[in-house]
Amino acid sequence: MMEENIAAIATPSGKGGVAIIRVSGKSALSLAAKMFTPTGKKDVGSFEPYRMYPGEIDGGSFSDYGLCVYFKAPNSYTGEDVVEFHCHGGENIARGILRQTFRLGAKAAGRGEFTKRAFLNGKLSLSSAEGVADMINGESEAEVKAGYLLYSEKLTNRVREIQATLKNLLAGIDVSVDYPEEDVEEQHVEELVFELQKLIVEVNVLTSGYSVGKKIKSGVTVAICGKPNTGKSSLLNRLLGYDKAIVSNVAGTTRDAVEGVMEIHGRKFNLYDTAGVRESGDAIENIGIERAEQIIRSADVAVFVADSVRGTDDEDARVLAMLEGKPLIKIFNKVDLTRDETESDADVYTSAVTGAGIEKLKELLYEKSFGALSEDAAFLIEARHYDALTRAKESLARAIKACNNQPLDLIGIDVKEAWDALGEITGETATEAIIQEIFEKFCVGK
Ligand code: GDP
Repeated sequence: MMEENIAAIATPSGKGGVAIIRVSGKSALSLAAKMFTPTGKKDVGSFEPYRMYPGEIDGGSFSDYGLCVYFKAPNSYTGEDVVEFHCHGGENIARGILRQTFRLGAKAAGRGEFTKRAFLNGKLSLSSAEGVADMINGESEAEVKAGYLLYSEKLTNRVREIQATLKNLLAGIDVSVDYPEEDVEEQHVEELVFELQKLIVEVNVLTSGYSVGKKIKSGVTVAICGKPNTGKSSLLNRLLGYDKAIVSNVAGTTRDAVEGVMEIHGRKFNLYDTAGVRESGDAIENIGIERAEQIIRSADVAVFVADSVRGTDDEDARVLAMLEGKPLIKIFNKVDLTRDETESDADVYTSAVTGAGIEKLKELLYEKSFGALSEDAAFLIEARHYDALTRAKESLARAIKACNNQPLDLIGIDVKEAWDALGEITGETATEAIIQEIFEKFCVGK
Protein backbone atom coordinates (compact mmCIF):
# COMPACT_ATOMS: atom_id res chain seq x y z
CA MET A 1 0.00 0.00 0.00
CA MET A 2 1.25 3.46 -0.89
CA GLU A 3 1.95 5.59 2.14
CA GLU A 4 0.76 8.85 0.73
CA ASN A 5 -2.92 9.77 0.52
CA ILE A 6 -4.02 11.04 -2.86
CA ALA A 7 -7.28 12.89 -3.40
CA ALA A 8 -9.35 14.12 -6.32
CA ILE A 9 -12.89 14.97 -7.33
CA ALA A 10 -14.13 11.82 -9.04
CA THR A 11 -17.17 13.34 -10.71
CA PRO A 12 -17.10 15.65 -13.75
CA SER A 13 -16.86 19.38 -13.21
CA GLY A 14 -20.04 21.41 -13.40
CA LYS A 15 -23.30 21.27 -11.50
CA GLY A 16 -24.92 17.95 -10.71
CA GLY A 17 -26.94 16.01 -8.21
CA VAL A 18 -23.94 14.83 -6.28
CA ALA A 19 -20.17 15.20 -6.43
CA ILE A 20 -17.73 12.63 -5.10
CA ILE A 21 -14.34 13.34 -3.59
CA ARG A 22 -12.13 10.28 -3.39
CA VAL A 23 -9.14 9.73 -1.13
CA SER A 24 -6.83 6.71 -1.36
CA GLY A 25 -3.85 5.83 0.80
CA LYS A 26 -2.70 4.27 4.00
CA SER A 27 -4.27 6.82 6.32
CA ALA A 28 -7.40 7.67 4.30
CA LEU A 29 -9.67 6.68 7.18
CA SER A 30 -7.93 8.82 9.78
CA LEU A 31 -8.02 11.73 7.31
CA ALA A 32 -11.78 11.20 7.07
CA ALA A 33 -12.04 11.23 10.85
CA LYS A 34 -10.60 14.75 10.84
CA MET A 35 -13.12 16.20 8.39
CA PHE A 36 -16.28 14.15 8.69
CA THR A 37 -18.67 14.26 11.62
CA PRO A 38 -21.09 11.36 11.44
CA THR A 39 -24.66 11.94 12.53
CA GLY A 40 -25.44 10.36 15.90
CA LYS A 41 -22.86 8.90 18.19
CA LYS A 42 -20.86 7.16 15.50
CA ASP A 43 -17.16 7.61 15.24
CA VAL A 44 -15.39 7.40 11.83
CA GLY A 45 -12.78 5.00 13.22
CA SER A 46 -15.51 2.41 13.81
CA PHE A 47 -17.03 2.69 10.32
CA GLU A 48 -17.97 -0.60 8.76
CA PRO A 49 -16.54 -0.82 5.26
CA TYR A 50 -18.81 -0.38 2.23
CA ARG A 51 -21.55 1.35 4.21
CA MET A 52 -22.74 4.87 3.64
CA TYR A 53 -22.80 7.07 6.71
CA PRO A 54 -24.57 10.44 6.75
CA GLY A 55 -22.91 13.40 8.41
CA GLU A 56 -21.23 16.75 8.09
CA ILE A 57 -18.33 17.20 5.67
CA ASP A 58 -15.83 19.94 6.37
CA GLY A 59 -15.22 22.17 3.36
CA GLY A 60 -12.87 24.56 5.12
CA SER A 61 -14.85 27.81 5.29
CA PHE A 62 -18.18 25.92 5.02
CA SER A 63 -19.77 22.56 5.74
CA ASP A 64 -21.99 20.32 3.66
CA TYR A 65 -24.29 17.58 4.77
CA GLY A 66 -23.49 14.43 2.83
CA LEU A 67 -22.30 10.85 2.97
CA CYS A 68 -19.04 9.11 3.69
CA VAL A 69 -18.10 5.57 2.72
CA TYR A 70 -14.99 3.58 3.57
CA PHE A 71 -13.52 0.87 1.33
CA LYS A 72 -11.10 -1.25 3.29
CA ALA A 73 -7.83 -2.43 1.76
CA PRO A 74 -7.31 -4.63 -0.15
CA ASN A 75 -10.96 -4.78 -1.22
CA SER A 76 -11.14 -1.37 -2.81
CA TYR A 77 -10.63 0.03 -6.30
CA THR A 78 -6.99 0.91 -5.66
CA GLY A 79 -6.28 -1.95 -3.30
CA GLU A 80 -5.59 0.62 -0.57
CA ASP A 81 -7.85 2.13 2.03
CA VAL A 82 -10.22 4.43 0.17
CA VAL A 83 -12.66 6.98 1.51
CA GLU A 84 -15.28 8.80 -0.53
CA PHE A 85 -17.23 11.89 0.41
CA HIS A 86 -20.52 12.34 -1.44
CA CYS A 87 -21.56 15.97 -1.27
CA HIS A 88 -24.03 18.20 -3.07
CA GLY A 89 -23.03 18.53 -6.68
CA GLY A 90 -21.72 22.08 -6.81
CA GLU A 91 -18.25 22.76 -8.11
CA ASN A 92 -17.31 25.04 -5.23
CA ILE A 93 -18.60 22.55 -2.68
CA ALA A 94 -16.51 19.74 -4.14
CA ARG A 95 -13.43 21.96 -4.50
CA GLY A 96 -13.69 23.19 -0.91
CA ILE A 97 -13.88 19.63 0.38
CA LEU A 98 -10.98 18.60 -1.84
CA ARG A 99 -8.89 21.52 -0.54
CA GLN A 100 -9.68 20.35 2.97
CA THR A 101 -8.21 16.92 2.17
CA PHE A 102 -5.07 18.73 0.94
CA ARG A 103 -4.84 20.67 4.21
CA LEU A 104 -4.93 17.32 5.93
CA GLY A 105 -1.94 16.15 3.95
CA ALA A 106 -3.42 14.48 0.89
CA LYS A 107 -1.66 15.06 -2.41
CA ALA A 108 -3.57 16.00 -5.59
CA ALA A 109 -4.02 12.82 -7.62
CA GLY A 110 -2.66 12.90 -11.15
CA ARG A 111 -4.47 11.60 -14.22
CA GLY A 112 -5.48 7.99 -13.70
CA GLU A 113 -3.48 7.77 -10.50
CA PHE A 114 -6.15 5.78 -8.65
CA THR A 115 -6.24 3.24 -11.46
CA LYS A 116 -2.44 3.25 -11.68
CA ARG A 117 -2.27 2.40 -7.99
CA ALA A 118 -4.83 -0.34 -8.61
CA PHE A 119 -2.53 -1.72 -11.32
CA LEU A 120 0.59 -1.44 -9.18
CA ASN A 121 -1.24 -3.13 -6.31
CA GLY A 122 -2.24 -6.02 -8.58
CA LYS A 123 -5.97 -5.21 -8.55
CA LEU A 124 -6.16 -5.22 -12.33
CA SER A 125 -3.92 -5.93 -15.31
CA LEU A 126 -2.67 -3.24 -17.65
CA SER A 127 -5.14 -4.21 -20.40
CA SER A 128 -7.93 -4.08 -17.84
CA ALA A 129 -6.90 -0.53 -16.91
CA GLU A 130 -6.96 0.34 -20.60
CA GLY A 131 -10.47 -1.10 -20.73
CA VAL A 132 -11.51 1.37 -18.04
CA ALA A 133 -10.20 4.24 -20.19
CA ASP A 134 -11.89 2.80 -23.28
CA MET A 135 -15.19 2.68 -21.45
CA ILE A 136 -14.91 6.23 -20.13
CA ASN A 137 -13.68 7.66 -23.43
CA GLY A 138 -15.91 5.35 -25.48
CA GLU A 139 -17.46 7.19 -28.42
CA SER A 140 -19.95 4.47 -29.23
CA GLU A 141 -21.88 1.78 -27.40
CA ALA A 142 -19.72 -0.85 -29.06
CA GLU A 143 -16.56 0.76 -27.72
CA VAL A 144 -18.01 0.82 -24.21
CA LYS A 145 -18.91 -2.84 -24.58
CA ALA A 146 -15.45 -3.77 -25.82
CA GLY A 147 -13.89 -1.67 -23.06
CA TYR A 148 -15.91 -3.55 -20.49
CA LEU A 149 -14.69 -6.89 -21.86
CA LEU A 150 -11.11 -5.64 -21.57
CA TYR A 151 -11.78 -4.31 -18.09
CA SER A 152 -13.18 -7.67 -17.00
CA GLU A 153 -9.86 -9.28 -18.01
CA LYS A 154 -11.17 -11.12 -21.08
CA LEU A 155 -7.99 -10.45 -23.02
CA THR A 156 -5.62 -10.82 -20.08
CA ASN A 157 -7.11 -14.19 -19.10
CA ARG A 158 -6.54 -15.58 -22.56
CA VAL A 159 -3.08 -14.08 -22.77
CA ARG A 160 -2.21 -15.50 -19.35
CA GLU A 161 -3.22 -18.99 -20.48
CA ILE A 162 -0.84 -18.72 -23.41
CA GLN A 163 1.86 -17.35 -21.13
CA ALA A 164 1.38 -20.27 -18.73
CA THR A 165 1.93 -22.74 -21.56
CA LEU A 166 5.03 -20.81 -22.62
CA LYS A 167 6.35 -20.95 -19.05
CA ASN A 168 5.91 -24.73 -19.03
CA LEU A 169 7.69 -25.05 -22.35
CA LEU A 170 10.52 -22.90 -21.03
CA ALA A 171 10.81 -25.05 -17.92
CA GLY A 172 11.00 -28.15 -20.15
CA ILE A 173 13.67 -26.51 -22.27
CA ASP A 174 15.72 -25.67 -19.17
CA VAL A 175 15.60 -29.27 -17.98
CA SER A 176 16.68 -30.58 -21.39
CA VAL A 177 19.49 -28.07 -21.59
CA ASP A 178 20.74 -29.20 -18.19
CA TYR A 179 20.47 -32.93 -18.94
CA PRO A 180 21.08 -33.36 -22.66
CA GLU A 181 20.40 -36.82 -24.05
CA GLU A 182 20.25 -37.09 -27.79
CA ASP A 183 17.09 -39.15 -28.43
CA VAL A 184 15.12 -37.54 -25.62
CA GLU A 185 15.97 -34.16 -27.07
CA GLU A 186 14.71 -35.10 -30.53
CA GLN A 187 11.36 -36.15 -29.16
CA HIS A 188 11.23 -33.05 -27.04
CA VAL A 189 11.76 -30.78 -30.05
CA GLU A 190 8.95 -32.49 -31.92
CA GLU A 191 6.56 -31.94 -29.05
CA LEU A 192 7.77 -28.39 -28.76
CA VAL A 193 6.96 -27.63 -32.40
CA PHE A 194 3.51 -29.10 -31.92
CA GLU A 195 2.85 -26.97 -28.83
CA LEU A 196 4.21 -23.81 -30.42
CA GLN A 197 2.00 -24.30 -33.46
CA LYS A 198 -1.03 -24.63 -31.23
CA LEU A 199 -0.11 -21.37 -29.52
CA ILE A 200 0.21 -19.57 -32.84
CA VAL A 201 -3.34 -20.66 -33.65
CA GLU A 202 -4.52 -19.27 -30.32
CA VAL A 203 -2.78 -15.95 -30.86
CA ASN A 204 -4.24 -15.84 -34.37
CA VAL A 205 -7.74 -16.18 -33.00
CA LEU A 206 -7.07 -13.09 -30.90
CA THR A 207 -5.43 -11.00 -33.62
CA SER A 208 -8.18 -11.83 -36.10
CA GLY A 209 -10.57 -9.97 -33.80
CA TYR A 210 -8.72 -6.76 -34.54
CA SER A 211 -10.35 -6.40 -37.95
CA VAL A 212 -13.59 -5.74 -36.08
CA GLY A 213 -11.91 -4.17 -33.07
CA LYS A 214 -10.12 -1.39 -34.86
CA LYS A 215 -13.34 -0.40 -36.60
CA ILE A 216 -15.05 -0.33 -33.24
CA LYS A 217 -12.35 1.87 -31.77
CA SER A 218 -11.66 4.25 -34.66
CA GLY A 219 -14.94 3.92 -36.47
CA VAL A 220 -15.63 2.72 -39.99
CA THR A 221 -14.41 5.22 -42.59
CA VAL A 222 -17.00 5.81 -45.29
CA ALA A 223 -16.19 7.83 -48.40
CA ILE A 224 -19.23 9.28 -50.13
CA CYS A 225 -18.28 9.70 -53.76
CA GLY A 226 -19.94 10.80 -56.94
CA LYS A 227 -20.22 13.58 -59.47
CA PRO A 228 -21.04 17.09 -58.25
CA ASN A 229 -24.72 17.76 -57.61
CA THR A 230 -25.76 14.14 -57.28
CA GLY A 231 -26.74 14.84 -53.66
CA LYS A 232 -23.75 13.66 -51.62
CA SER A 233 -23.85 16.51 -49.10
CA SER A 234 -27.61 16.22 -48.80
CA LEU A 235 -27.36 12.48 -48.14
CA LEU A 236 -24.64 13.02 -45.56
CA ASN A 237 -26.84 15.52 -43.78
CA ARG A 238 -29.74 13.09 -43.91
CA LEU A 239 -27.61 10.38 -42.39
CA LEU A 240 -26.28 12.65 -39.67
CA GLY A 241 -29.60 14.29 -39.06
CA TYR A 242 -28.30 17.86 -39.20
CA ASP A 243 -26.93 20.38 -41.69
CA LYS A 244 -23.19 19.97 -41.62
CA ALA A 245 -22.09 19.78 -45.23
CA ILE A 246 -22.83 22.81 -47.41
CA VAL A 247 -25.52 21.98 -49.90
CA SER A 248 -25.54 23.98 -53.10
CA ASN A 249 -26.70 23.83 -56.69
CA VAL A 250 -23.38 25.02 -58.04
CA ALA A 251 -21.24 22.11 -59.10
CA GLY A 252 -18.08 21.76 -57.05
CA THR A 253 -19.12 23.67 -53.93
CA THR A 254 -18.18 20.91 -51.53
CA ARG A 255 -14.52 21.81 -51.74
CA ASP A 256 -13.30 19.96 -48.73
CA ALA A 257 -14.07 16.61 -47.29
CA VAL A 258 -16.57 17.07 -44.50
CA GLU A 259 -16.54 14.66 -41.65
CA GLY A 260 -19.52 13.58 -39.69
CA VAL A 261 -19.80 10.84 -37.12
CA MET A 262 -22.81 8.59 -36.67
CA GLU A 263 -23.72 5.33 -34.99
CA ILE A 264 -25.31 2.34 -36.65
CA HIS A 265 -26.29 -0.47 -34.31
CA GLY A 266 -24.09 1.07 -31.64
CA ARG A 267 -20.99 1.22 -33.83
CA LYS A 268 -19.19 4.33 -34.97
CA PHE A 269 -19.05 5.43 -38.61
CA ASN A 270 -16.98 8.36 -39.87
CA LEU A 271 -18.55 9.79 -42.99
CA TYR A 272 -16.59 11.79 -45.51
CA ASP A 273 -18.28 13.74 -48.24
CA THR A 274 -15.62 13.94 -50.91
CA ALA A 275 -15.36 16.96 -53.15
CA GLY A 276 -16.78 16.40 -56.61
CA VAL A 277 -14.21 14.20 -58.26
CA ARG A 278 -13.86 15.63 -61.74
CA GLU A 279 -11.56 17.51 -64.04
CA SER A 280 -11.22 21.14 -63.05
CA GLY A 281 -8.89 24.05 -63.64
CA ASP A 282 -9.67 25.45 -60.21
CA ALA A 283 -6.65 25.17 -57.92
CA ILE A 284 -8.61 25.02 -54.69
CA GLU A 285 -10.86 22.37 -56.08
CA ASN A 286 -7.85 20.38 -57.18
CA ILE A 287 -6.67 20.26 -53.59
CA GLY A 288 -10.13 18.98 -52.71
CA ILE A 289 -9.84 16.30 -55.35
CA GLU A 290 -6.49 15.22 -54.02
CA ARG A 291 -7.95 14.92 -50.54
CA ALA A 292 -10.89 12.99 -51.92
CA GLU A 293 -8.52 10.51 -53.50
CA GLN A 294 -6.71 10.19 -50.21
CA ILE A 295 -9.95 9.52 -48.36
CA ILE A 296 -11.01 6.94 -50.91
CA ARG A 297 -7.72 5.13 -50.43
CA SER A 298 -8.13 4.93 -46.67
CA ALA A 299 -11.88 4.24 -46.68
CA ASP A 300 -13.28 0.95 -45.41
CA VAL A 301 -16.41 1.39 -47.50
CA ALA A 302 -17.18 3.60 -50.49
CA VAL A 303 -20.62 4.93 -51.26
CA PHE A 304 -21.16 5.87 -54.88
CA VAL A 305 -23.94 8.36 -55.52
CA ALA A 306 -25.55 8.85 -58.93
CA ASP A 307 -28.39 11.15 -59.89
CA SER A 308 -31.37 9.06 -60.87
CA VAL A 309 -32.88 11.95 -62.86
CA ARG A 310 -29.87 12.51 -65.04
CA GLY A 311 -28.76 8.90 -65.17
CA THR A 312 -25.13 7.92 -65.44
CA ASP A 313 -22.48 8.90 -67.97
CA ASP A 314 -18.74 8.60 -68.54
CA GLU A 315 -17.96 10.86 -65.61
CA ASP A 316 -19.84 8.54 -63.26
CA ALA A 317 -17.93 5.66 -64.77
CA ARG A 318 -14.66 7.46 -64.01
CA VAL A 319 -15.65 7.95 -60.38
CA LEU A 320 -16.68 4.32 -60.13
CA ALA A 321 -13.36 3.23 -61.57
CA MET A 322 -11.60 5.02 -58.72
CA LEU A 323 -13.53 2.93 -56.21
CA GLU A 324 -12.54 -0.39 -57.61
CA GLY A 325 -11.48 -2.89 -55.02
CA LYS A 326 -13.36 -1.18 -52.18
CA PRO A 327 -16.48 -2.59 -50.56
CA LEU A 328 -19.01 -0.50 -52.45
CA ILE A 329 -22.60 0.65 -52.11
CA LYS A 330 -24.16 2.09 -55.24
CA ILE A 331 -26.86 4.64 -54.70
CA PHE A 332 -29.36 6.17 -57.08
CA ASN A 333 -30.41 9.38 -55.37
CA LYS A 334 -33.28 11.83 -55.93
CA VAL A 335 -35.83 9.06 -56.42
CA ASP A 336 -38.49 11.52 -55.27
CA LEU A 337 -38.13 13.08 -58.75
CA THR A 338 -38.29 9.81 -60.68
CA ARG A 339 -40.37 6.71 -60.40
CA ASP A 340 -38.17 4.28 -62.13
CA GLU A 341 -36.27 2.06 -59.77
CA THR A 342 -35.53 -0.71 -62.17
CA GLU A 343 -33.19 0.69 -64.75
CA SER A 344 -29.92 0.44 -62.92
CA ASP A 345 -27.78 -1.85 -60.84
CA ALA A 346 -28.09 0.33 -57.75
CA ASP A 347 -27.97 -1.31 -54.32
CA VAL A 348 -30.34 1.24 -52.91
CA TYR A 349 -32.57 4.06 -54.17
CA THR A 350 -32.62 7.09 -51.94
CA SER A 351 -34.06 10.53 -51.59
CA ALA A 352 -32.19 12.98 -49.44
CA VAL A 353 -35.36 15.08 -49.53
CA THR A 354 -37.93 12.53 -48.32
CA GLY A 355 -35.57 10.19 -46.53
CA ALA A 356 -36.57 7.23 -48.66
CA GLY A 357 -34.00 4.44 -48.66
CA ILE A 358 -31.92 5.95 -45.84
CA GLU A 359 -32.63 3.12 -43.40
CA LYS A 360 -31.71 0.57 -46.04
CA LEU A 361 -28.53 2.53 -46.73
CA LYS A 362 -27.59 2.34 -43.04
CA GLU A 363 -28.18 -1.42 -43.00
CA LEU A 364 -26.01 -1.80 -46.09
CA LEU A 365 -23.26 0.30 -44.51
CA TYR A 366 -23.28 -1.95 -41.46
CA GLU A 367 -23.35 -5.12 -43.53
CA LYS A 368 -20.52 -4.03 -45.83
CA SER A 369 -18.40 -3.01 -42.84
CA PHE A 370 -18.93 -5.92 -40.52
CA GLY A 371 -20.78 -8.54 -42.57
CA ALA A 372 -19.46 -11.94 -41.65
CA LEU A 373 -16.71 -10.73 -39.33
CA SER A 374 -16.58 -12.73 -36.14
CA GLU A 375 -17.39 -10.98 -32.88
CA ASP A 376 -15.47 -13.55 -30.90
CA ALA A 377 -12.57 -11.30 -29.99
CA ALA A 378 -14.26 -7.92 -30.32
CA PHE A 379 -12.33 -6.78 -27.25
CA LEU A 380 -9.13 -6.50 -29.26
CA ILE A 381 -9.56 -2.81 -29.98
CA GLU A 382 -6.19 -1.38 -28.95
CA ALA A 383 -3.42 -1.15 -31.54
CA ARG A 384 -0.96 -1.66 -28.68
CA HIS A 385 -2.41 -5.08 -27.89
CA TYR A 386 -2.52 -6.07 -31.54
CA ASP A 387 1.09 -5.06 -31.93
CA ALA A 388 2.20 -7.07 -28.89
CA LEU A 389 0.31 -10.15 -30.08
CA THR A 390 1.82 -9.80 -33.53
CA ARG A 391 5.31 -9.68 -32.07
CA ALA A 392 4.52 -12.71 -29.91
CA LYS A 393 3.43 -14.55 -33.02
CA GLU A 394 6.63 -13.62 -34.83
CA SER A 395 8.71 -14.91 -31.92
CA LEU A 396 6.74 -18.16 -31.88
CA ALA A 397 7.28 -18.57 -35.62
CA ARG A 398 11.01 -17.95 -35.12
CA ALA A 399 11.07 -20.53 -32.34
CA ILE A 400 9.43 -23.11 -34.60
CA LYS A 401 11.96 -22.40 -37.31
CA ALA A 402 14.79 -22.64 -34.81
CA CYS A 403 13.52 -26.11 -33.85
CA ASN A 404 14.84 -27.35 -37.24
CA ASN A 405 18.49 -26.87 -36.59
CA GLN A 406 19.18 -24.74 -33.52
CA PRO A 407 20.14 -25.88 -30.02
CA LEU A 408 17.42 -25.83 -27.38
CA ASP A 409 18.74 -22.85 -25.46
CA LEU A 410 18.48 -20.68 -28.59
CA ILE A 411 14.91 -21.87 -29.15
CA GLY A 412 14.31 -20.89 -25.55
CA ILE A 413 15.29 -17.30 -26.30
CA ASP A 414 12.53 -16.97 -28.91
CA VAL A 415 10.00 -18.60 -26.59
CA LYS A 416 10.98 -16.17 -23.84
CA GLU A 417 10.57 -13.26 -26.28
CA ALA A 418 7.04 -14.40 -27.05
CA TRP A 419 6.30 -14.48 -23.32
CA ASP A 420 7.73 -10.98 -22.90
CA ALA A 421 5.67 -9.56 -25.76
CA LEU A 422 2.51 -10.94 -24.14
CA GLY A 423 3.64 -9.50 -20.82
CA GLU A 424 3.25 -6.03 -22.30
CA ILE A 425 -0.48 -6.68 -22.49
CA THR A 426 -0.86 -7.94 -18.95
CA GLY A 427 1.66 -5.40 -17.70
CA GLU A 428 4.45 -7.63 -16.40
CA THR A 429 6.94 -6.46 -19.02
CA ALA A 430 5.46 -3.08 -19.89
CA THR A 431 8.01 -0.30 -19.61
CA GLU A 432 7.48 2.70 -17.34
CA ALA A 433 7.02 4.80 -20.51
CA ILE A 434 4.18 2.60 -21.75
CA ILE A 435 2.51 2.64 -18.35
CA GLN A 436 2.86 6.39 -18.15
CA GLU A 437 1.32 6.84 -21.59
CA ILE A 438 -1.64 4.64 -20.73
CA PHE A 439 -2.54 6.46 -17.54
CA GLU A 440 -2.13 9.83 -19.25
CA LYS A 441 -5.29 8.92 -21.17
CA PHE A 442 -7.31 8.95 -17.98
CA CYS A 443 -9.02 11.85 -16.34
CA VAL A 444 -8.11 13.10 -12.89
CA GLY A 445 -10.14 11.28 -10.26
CA LYS A 446 -10.13 7.87 -11.99
P1 GDP B 1 -23.34 17.19 -54.00
O1 GDP B 1 -22.67 18.20 -54.88
O2 GDP B 1 -23.27 15.82 -54.60
O3 GDP B 1 -22.88 17.22 -52.59
O4 GDP B 1 -24.90 17.55 -54.05
P2 GDP B 1 -25.75 18.40 -53.00
O5 GDP B 1 -26.07 17.62 -51.81
O6 GDP B 1 -25.12 19.73 -52.84
O7 GDP B 1 -27.11 18.51 -53.80
C1 GDP B 1 -27.22 19.17 -55.07
C2 GDP B 1 -28.62 19.61 -55.30
O8 GDP B 1 -29.51 18.51 -55.40
C3 GDP B 1 -29.18 20.48 -54.18
O9 GDP B 1 -29.98 21.49 -54.72
C4 GDP B 1 -30.03 19.52 -53.37
O10 GDP B 1 -31.07 20.14 -52.69
C5 GDP B 1 -30.55 18.58 -54.45
N1 GDP B 1 -30.82 17.23 -53.93
C6 GDP B 1 -29.95 16.41 -53.30
N2 GDP B 1 -30.53 15.22 -53.02
C7 GDP B 1 -31.80 15.30 -53.50
C8 GDP B 1 -32.89 14.38 -53.51
O11 GDP B 1 -32.84 13.24 -53.06
N3 GDP B 1 -34.04 14.79 -54.12
C9 GDP B 1 -34.15 16.04 -54.67
N4 GDP B 1 -35.30 16.37 -55.20
N5 GDP B 1 -33.14 16.92 -54.65
C10 GDP B 1 -31.97 16.57 -54.08
